[in-house]
Amino acid sequence: MMPSRLRPVAPFLPARCDSFAVYLIAWVWGAFVSLGGAIAPCRAADAATKPNIVVIFCDDLGYADIGPFGAQGYSTPNLDRMAADGRKFTDFYVAQAVCSASRTALLTGCYPNRVGILGALGPKSDHGIADSETTLGEVAKQAGYATAAFGKWHLGHHPQFLPTRHGFDEYYGLPYSNDMWPKHPTATFPDLPLIDGEATIELNPDQTKLTTSYTERAVAFIDKHRERPFLLYLAHSMPHVPLFVSEKFAGKTQRGLFGDVISEIDWSVGEVLAALRRNGLDERTLVIFTSDNGPWLSYGDHAGSAAPLREGKGTAWDGGVRVSCLMRWPGKIAAGTVCREPAMTIDLLPTVAKLLGVTLDPARPIDGLDIAGLLFGDESARSPHEALYFYWGEGLHAIRSGKWKLHFPHPYVHVDVPGTGGKPGKLSQRKTEAALYDLVADPAETHDVAAAHPEIVERLEAAAEAARADLGDGLAKRAGAGVRKPGRVEK
Ligand code: MG
Repeated sequence: MMPSRLRPVAPFLPARCDSFAVYLIAWVWGAFVSLGGAIAPCRAADAATKPNIVVIFCDDLGYADIGPFGAQGYSTPNLDRMAADGRKFTDFYVAQAVCSASRTALLTGCYPNRVGILGALGPKSDHGIADSETTLGEVAKQAGYATAAFGKWHLGHHPQFLPTRHGFDEYYGLPYSNDMWPKHPTATFPDLPLIDGEATIELNPDQTKLTTSYTERAVAFIDKHRERPFLLYLAHSMPHVPLFVSEKFAGKTQRGLFGDVISEIDWSVGEVLAALRRNGLDERTLVIFTSDNGPWLSYGDHAGSAAPLREGKGTAWDGGVRVSCLMRWPGKIAAGTVCREPAMTIDLLPTVAKLLGVTLDPARPIDGLDIAGLLFGDESARSPHEALYFYWGEGLHAIRSGKWKLHFPHPYVHVDVPGTGGKPGKLSQRKTEAALYDLVADPAETHDVAAAHPEIVERLEAAAEAARADLGDGLAKRAGAGVRKPGRVEK
């Protein structure tokens, strides 16, 4: 029998792939002609029928940091064109407004609380993504795809946690944040490794070259795989501080270094899209552009903007968790359209799995839902989520359902005096009481309307209770029954 995890289920697959006989023939053929590596069933037909997936994931890019979302002081012509060719998602979220937790959600389809990776891992961390979790890369491998991760990983830096052990054929990049190095302005870190495959090829690399070198790898990967479906995960280290830009973009924008850095990311998007076009892959490729969390406002002129949203990275306010997002697939996603429904990075894995015809393991439940309707449908398509949950660490800080967002009483960090020149500013701890916001009328979360809508508060409280039972809640001192353990280095 065909392993159940390989069973094609998507309408995008050719009918002949549903035939076990053809599957078997393709498999045997592949076994004969392949000299090694993974053998893809139905590979001969794949390039023409299965979509390539490209995920471009920025670090700390704010909601308003690209042209289609209102960027000022620099232009992003390639992202503007991507929005004109595809769909802009105005209410797209990350699961937590910090790097490792957010990346875990994207790559596992789970709230990071479910799979035990919170905060930002660093050189002293002894945990990472568990072998038993299924990553986006592993989903693609199950469909016979070539896979690559270029850029920031942050799901564990020990060899057992690296991309090459979790579904990616190729890896090149930094295992964690680019500020975790000896030149950090306020903290002490060891040398920062640049990794190729699983080998450290350089310590404290020249960061002015990062965006361009990730891009060159990405373009080479696309060129190499024009005949075979692929998943490309391009996770830029920028615009996370410390900001660095290559010579070709230095000093080019009114906004200073931050604007120059975004200009180079925009150039990178243009290079990736040009490579797809050059290889005739435009209409066979879904490209997703988004960010891992909102701007790190503490860094002032070296941070972006979440306007008109409240606060930024490190909070459950929309400025922290709501990110700019564009998706493009000519012929499948209607050009120049907008989706205003709430969705989250956790939804990409199940959506891609469905597109690729991969059935996920029911023994490892995930939190994301198939949002194909929001990608390919019209304005009547609705979010499949009854509610989206916003944790900070182990605490459930807020919940969104439709246009409503309910905050539970929680502390958060506010920037009193923004830093300049790459140095952090002055912060203070604040606290919010429970409050209900109508995000359509009040995207900045300023007017508490709980008193006028007790039935909404009651409904969202009930949904939050279900989340607490499943995923826990540090604020309520609750443990979750559905929480799984991360991987750990054996001592
Ligand atoms: Mg980040």
